[in-house]
Amino acid sequence: MTAPAETPSSPASDRQTHGFQAQVRELLKLMIHSLYSHREIFLRELISNASDANDRLRFAAISAPELLERDAELSIRIDADPEAGTVTVVDNGIGMTREEAVANLGTIARSGTAEFFRSLSGERQKDSQLIGQFGVGFYSAFIVAERVEVLSRRAGAPAEAAVRWESNADGEFTVETVTREARGSAVKLYLKPEAKEFADHFRLRGLIRRYSDHIAFPVRMRKEGEAALEYETVNQATALWTRPRAEISAEEYRQFYQHLAHDFSEPLAWSHNRVEGKREYTSLLYVPGRAPFDLWQRDAAHGLKLYVKRVFIMDDAEQFLPLYLRFIKGVVDSSDLPLNVSRELLQREPEVEAIRGSLTKRVLDMLTKLAQDEPEKFATFWTEFAPALKEGVVQDAANRPTLLALLRFASTHEATEEPTVSLAQYVARMKPGQEHIYYVVAENVRAARHSPYIERLAEQGLEVLLLGERIDEWMMGQLEAFEGKRFKDVARGDLALGPLEAEADRNRREAALKESKGLLKRVKDAVGERVIEVRISTRLKDSPACLVRAEDDLGAGMRKILAAAGQKVPESKPALELNTDHPLVKYLEKLADADRFQALAVLLYEQAELAEGGELGDPAEFVQRLNRLLVELAAGHTA
Ligand code: ADP
Repeated sequence: MTAPAETPSSPASDRQTHGFQAQVRELLKLMIHSLYSHREIFLRELISNASDANDRLRFAAISAPELLERDAELSIRIDADPEAGTVTVVDNGIGMTREEAVANLGTIARSGTAEFFRSLSGERQKDSQLIGQFGVGFYSAFIVAERVEVLSRRAGAPAEAAVRWESNADGEFTVETVTREARGSAVKLYLKPEAKEFADHFRLRGLIRRYSDHIAFPVRMRKEGEAALEYETVNQATALWTRPRAEISAEEYRQFYQHLAHDFSEPLAWSHNRVEGKREYTSLLYVPGRAPFDLWQRDAAHGLKLYVKRVFIMDDAEQFLPLYLRFIKGVVDSSDLPLNVSRELLQREPEVEAIRGSLTKRVLDMLTKLAQDEPEKFATFWTEFAPALKEGVVQDAANRPTLLALLRFASTHEATEEPTVSLAQYVARMKPGQEHIYYVVAENVRAARHSPYIERLAEQGLEVLLLGERIDEWMMGQLEAFEGKRFKDVARGDLALGPLEAEADRNRREAALKESKGLLKRVKDAVGERVIEVRISTRLKDSPACLVRAEDDLGAGMRKILAAAGQKVPESKPALELNTDHPLVKYLEKLADADRFQALAVLLYEQAELAEGGELGDPAEFVQRLNRLLVELAAGHTA
């Protein structure tokens, strides 16, 4: 018998038991119960960690070559013992100290962890997708193992300062200091009885080729045959992005995405490019199939994986894409940046600025192509990421025309509430003489469709874009024109239809203007300082009244956002527009009783405020007023 390679240095004294962080316990439970259909991903995750550990050592060795000791060829080894039912993933990378093992393999330090737990639904199918997206990492070992043992020695640490970590996922783990000659980590899984198949060499080779072919380090297994002690490389062992495009299959691109993004769903599109000449770099960018749960947290980790001349430099290099493209996953490998480049340096490097410009274009090209060639996939993209692109339309003035062309809207032209109409389609359908792209913003698309502001336009057959997301009022307020056609919020300012107004409408309006001077003044006196003016409407057909704000005033949506954020909402008064064709307004005109006139006029104002999506200053008073009128009405009926 050979002596064990690792021996406890002080058996009784320094063995410690720790409890897992509560979230780890929860994650373990979820994984064990939800990921039963994706069990094999544990291997991809552990090989991925091994590859990261090797990457990190190679990076550290740039400034401290002695860390490589006498073992400079970085690789990964998979050992399996079908009889014992064990699989071991071994790397010779950076390794962990005892303290690091306790911190890294007992807690989850990732940002967005809290959101992740909040977004769980309790439904297996959905949650298993989410877990995949969260990145199960090391803990995925417990999908197939009843016990996991990690031996690790940090590069540069003495053999006696190695660590042995062990757990059977029952809420606790133990650590003890051991002696280990080999640098790096060995993660040994004692497979559950129902997962013993994963100790089979043939099965393991298949999985390595399938999931880890593109890992830049050789992944080795023992050669077949009895008692063979030699190892052979099972994967391609070249970083995927360094290979020529023509040689890479779609399946390989997908697998690489899953490794990169820790996401087992499929990407919608990718773009792989090598730039040569004055500037040299390779990029591989992916559009994920769904938004991460922390997309709306602007400080959540994002950015590309940065390599310099094939050497891994950092994760989440956010300088290579604008913030609004934070959902893009990918790799950039530069031949020009220095190996010791830091985050601070990246911010100042003109080279990075130039790459960022080109990568932004590449992403937008990829999306434009997706919209043209695969509208269904683009629709999925839009459902997941629309608000991010809407941020972009405002922030990225240089690419605004391209971004505008990617926007999709619900519209009065379509029955659906789904956003399917592009601005190009809108413009192509514009009526002769129509100068504006009309739009209305409300709480949601349904409310926009029923908005009083679009009644006349709809009757006239003029298409109106229907917007209903939080970001929409802000975005549209920043936009000027598309293909020379100016945007017009139909709820603001003067909606002069000019030659588009039907002649009968114009005649009626002009006549009303003359006849209603007295009414307008009485209504203004009744509603008082609530409005700047009372006038006759060009927009209404079925509703009696609406509120209209000036072009540069904040709308109801922005007012609510500001108020919710505790900010001061600037004072501004709307105009009250009346529809003199409406029976209620006609009734009002004839009403002699001053109190009733007052009550009904204010009620019209309050209704209009509600329809605008605003909030009443005194809702109880509104209800009382309404009920008084209804009681009179009821009394009239019974009398
Ligand atoms: P992630 O890799 O997403 O950070 P994991 O749960 O997979 O999350 O791993 C947690 C941490 O444990 C890693 O960030 C790393 O610091 C450490 N770790 C895991 N495996 C290894 C390994 N083979 N060598 C060195 N450190 C490792």
